[in-house]
Amino acid sequence: MAEIERQPEEFLFRRIGVVRSVFKAKFGIPRQPGLIPEAVGQIVLQPPYNQPNIVRGLEQFSHIWVLFVFHLAMRDNWKATVRPPRLGGDKRIGVFASRSPFRPNPVGLSVLRLQEVCCRNGKVWLEVQGLDLLDGTPVLDIKPYIPYADSLPDASGGFADAPPEQTLQVTFTEHAAALCQTIERHSPGFTELARKVVAENPRPAYQDIPGREYGIFLGDYEVVWKADGPAATIFDIRPGEKTH
Ligand code: SAM
Repeated sequence: MAEIERQPEEFLFRRIGVVRSVFKAKFGIPRQPGLIPEAVGQIVLQPPYNQPNIVRGLEQFSHIWVLFVFHLAMRDNWKATVRPPRLGGDKRIGVFASRSPFRPNPVGLSVLRLQEVCCRNGKVWLEVQGLDLLDGTPVLDIKPYIPYADSLPDASGGFADAPPEQTLQVTFTEHAAALCQTIERHSPGFTELARKVVAENPRPAYQDIPGREYGIFLGDYEVVWKADGPAATIFDIRPGEKTH
């Protein structure tokens, strides 16, 4: 016990890199990784970690664990209980029984598909797929996903046992569909990304205000939509660079 008391209670970790993500604002980001394969981006390593040796062998793995800081959820006061969207936003559970960004140590953990390990022109970065992270998220560590240890077929998932159902049926107006077609020329997959992000119904739990406009910042654009019952309409795609 005395030995434990002598251990430090505070630790200083360095950022090893930054996430470059299609998600330029928190609203609309999937609540877990892997839900939207079109949500692609990079993990860009920063000096002194931007050396090819540091990622040698990583290309053998299909997935990685990424440990990061919820840098836009850092608060001085934390709460022991949170209200997860999966429980309708009105039931409280312990923060350690949740994946809430608001936690005593704002550290997050996401498993991502690793598409490519890139070392070019003095830069080292990982191309990743299935992001649930905001552009600019600070990264603390990267580890390979090891199926024999990390995949547990007999695990039970409590209140989040099944993936969330896509709750909104999304259509595009002719105007929005034409804009998407143009964007597809330089950003293939944009239309599907926009559709899936809106289909996830990112509105706060129980918020159902017919006709209310919402904007989701994806890449260089703002996807503007509204919902009516189980249906959503994407009616405009505007240039938009909002970060955070
Ligand atoms: N998979 C991670 C985990 O379990 O630790 C993250 C789960 S958390 C529920 C995912 C949400 O965190 C996203 O929907 C987004 O709203 C939020 N988020 C993502 N990046 C963030 C950041 N850098 N700072 C604050 N919140 C962030």
